[in-house]
Amino acid sequence: MNNRTNQPLPVPMSSPDLSEAERQAVAEVMATPRLSMGPKVDAFERAVADYVGVKHAVAVNSGTAGLHLCVRAAGVVDRDLVLTTPFSFVASANVILYERAIPVFVDVDPDTGNIDPEQVERSLTDLTAGRTSGWLPRRGADHPGPLRAMIPVDVFGQPADYDRLLPLARTNGLRTILDACESLGARHDDRAAGTMGDAGVYAFYPNKQITTAEGGLVVTDDDDWAQLVRALRNQGRAPGDTWLDHTYLGYNYRLNELNAALGLAQMGRLEALLAARQQVADWYNQRLAGVSRVQPPAVAETTSRTSWFVYVVRLEPASDRRQLMANLEQAGVPTRPYFSPIHLQPYFVERFGYQPGDFPVTEDLGRRSLALPFSGVMTEAQVDRVVEELRAALRKS
Ligand SMILES: *Cc1c(COP(=O)(O)O)cnc(C)c1O
Repeated sequence: MNNRTNQPLPVPMSSPDLSEAERQAVAEVMATPRLSMGPKVDAFERAVADYVGVKHAVAVNSGTAGLHLCVRAAGVVDRDLVLTTPFSFVASANVILYERAIPVFVDVDPDTGNIDPEQVERSLTDLTAGRTSGWLPRRGADHPGPLRAMIPVDVFGQPADYDRLLPLARTNGLRTILDACESLGARHDDRAAGTMGDAGVYAFYPNKQITTAEGGLVVTDDDDWAQLVRALRNQGRAPGDTWLDHTYLGYNYRLNELNAALGLAQMGRLEALLAARQQVADWYNQRLAGVSRVQPPAVAETTSRTSWFVYVVRLEPASDRRQLMANLEQAGVPTRPYFSPIHLQPYFVERFGYQPGDFPVTEDLGRRSLALPFSGVMTEAQVDRVVEELRAALRKS
């Protein structure tokens, strides 16, 4: 109890699920001189590659770094067009800007929040016929290059509609980079999230399904992509290069041994971690079924397994979310407005001239979504408390 206010402690927004195995694994690396470029990174890569069933995995020091390297591997250059979603964490679109390419935002499905294949199809038909109006941004898109790649995002742990997206990409000659930073462990039909495109990227910030504190990982079945991504993360050193030879313009995007050891220990517990998150989501689903003004997350037919990343509910259109969030905060229940549309971030508006109304479904979801506290270490009592406080806050607003 918090003495001053006599209120119970706040429920954390998210928490990593760490055990003695993780502490020991990190301590073991600390007892060796090998802190980078060693066996833990190799073992962590192997563990993830085997789990999702791909040939290659390349660990990097963030999900953003992994996405950036995939954009490089896809051959994206100045003014190329890259299809993606405005309803995501900002990194999935930033990596397009890093290479001075032009994002082609396509609005999302209102149920799942994932990029809408029907609109993807229309955008491709229009753009290949030279009808750019409505698809390219108002400014910052002069002399557009070719359509080069697509970056779908598995929003909140649910795979995008790959059965429809990937054939469209193939027909139109687009490379596919799957942002699976929120979906490690999810399955689409019979395939692991992140494994169906040219490459997929997972992320391991502390609120993700597994954590390395900071980190990410690129998976691919393509030998050339794997080799290039490996070289680019390591200052552009190609196989055979010495420490001071650099075949490519590279980066230091390496994951170190301490973080890799942490990730490897988490991979050893992955099924238990995912099951614990599923249990918390189930508790929420049961309790929220009786709350009329809140819509629980929708699961698509093509999702054979959701890997819960966050638990995001949808409020009614007329709700005063700001007031509701303030009331909940005061009651010790933090919440987040997941996501804030990417196209309306200040530098996107300045550079590309986006305006409110450009992507109505994204903006509607952005206004009405509310992420509740969520993690695999949440207790049933904490879920009860969040739902009780949510009911109380709804009555007040
Ligand atoms: C977490 C996340 C990333 C990568 O985040 P990092 O903090 O760079 O590891 C990218 N895309 C999405 C959709 C994410 O949720």
